[in-house]
Amino acid sequence: MIHNKIERIHSDSAITCKLCMQEMETLYEHLAMSREEIDLLDVPKRSFTVHFPVRMDSGKVKMFIGHRVQYNDARGPTKGGIRYHPELTVEYLQDLAFLMSIKCALVDIPFGGAKGGIVANTKELSRGELERVTRAYIREIADYIGPFKDIPAPDVYTDGQIMIWILDEFEKIRREHTPSIVTGKPVELGGSHVRKYSTSLGGVFILEEALKKLEIDKSELCVAVQGFGKVGSNAARILYEKGFTICAVSDSAGGIFNEDGLNITEVIDHKTRTGSVIDFPESQNITNEQILALDCGILIPAALSNQIKRENVNDVRAKVILELANAPITMEASRMLIDRDVLLIPDILANAGGVVVSYFEWIQNLSQDYWEEEKVLERLREKMKTAFEKVYTICLEQNCSMRRAALQFSVERILYAERLRGNL
Ligand code: GLU
Repeated sequence: MIHNKIERIHSDSAITCKLCMQEMETLYEHLAMSREEIDLLDVPKRSFTVHFPVRMDSGKVKMFIGHRVQYNDARGPTKGGIRYHPELTVEYLQDLAFLMSIKCALVDIPFGGAKGGIVANTKELSRGELERVTRAYIREIADYIGPFKDIPAPDVYTDGQIMIWILDEFEKIRREHTPSIVTGKPVELGGSHVRKYSTSLGGVFILEEALKKLEIDKSELCVAVQGFGKVGSNAARILYEKGFTICAVSDSAGGIFNEDGLNITEVIDHKTRTGSVIDFPESQNITNEQILALDCGILIPAALSNQIKRENVNDVRAKVILELANAPITMEASRMLIDRDVLLIPDILANAGGVVVSYFEWIQNLSQDYWEEEKVLERLREKMKTAFEKVYTICLEQNCSMRRAALQFSVERILYAERLRGNL
């Protein structure tokens, strides 16, 4: 099965998580895993597709397709985002759900992994259509989700408003308040402080730990951030506020560079006004290719997958790369970077801050005890730091990449839970 999975991923040139999956195959060998163990991890526990009609603004009814994959629940209810994308496939969601199981185990939160979504282009839907599509999807999957079964969250092209429609539809079906059914809600309606930018902040905490290990002071290196969406712009903002020099940022229109550093508060204002970071005063416009090749010390790919590959890996000059995007570096390029002693912090660790604060939100909803921002920040830092320490220690002991160490650590945790349950 894993072979089928890898072949499928190879043929998918769009956003993929092929890197982790390829690494998994070598991990199976490295850990000398038994047939039973491999079989158990190789397939999702539940994976299903629903078809449902939605009345469009035109008055006509259109059929939609939705999926949900609940991969492994040995450590707790499954957890993972809901994305809306025109090219969504259940196979791709299975891989992402597997990675959610890995992420949750890595940061030691009591969840398994899930992922789901609807095949739709949100740009082509009116707000009313988006709401009706969301509610119809939830009606189809309501029996299979719940605070102790499977808890959705935002993902690509879904946000806090969509989470509230999910909450409201679920509560209408159950006829009782159930705030812990979904995370990523606005703070005003059961959400947690920090959740909006927790993916970026979690990554920054990990970066700080990495710099400590390498005995590098933040004043010695400047930072380039590729991608200025929610994750990239928050990462740049947080690092800027912490005193890092951000010498370059970019979005889909291109990038900007100033070797003395950019004022990120002003760049955010500029982007809000003009729609892009380009043409920011006192900076030089650069391309998205050039940003990857800057002599910047720290590179944060926070946009699309497969940005650093064989063709451009030799141009990369950073010493530390924090993968805030999913799979921004191909397998081959990763190996080449690691051979050059670049510290490559993998996505499954770097972007786990989102689901960690989702866990805090779930706790707050269940206990009805809402935390101050300070407490969320402190507990997020603690979780990310502990995960970093574990991964880094395995790296040193086994002289392996951080990605391998993270996967190994998580897989062992999941298998241990399966063993305790008597499933192995
Ligand atoms: N979609 C986010 C992720 O992939 C968050 C998932 C969650 O909070 O459950 O990590």
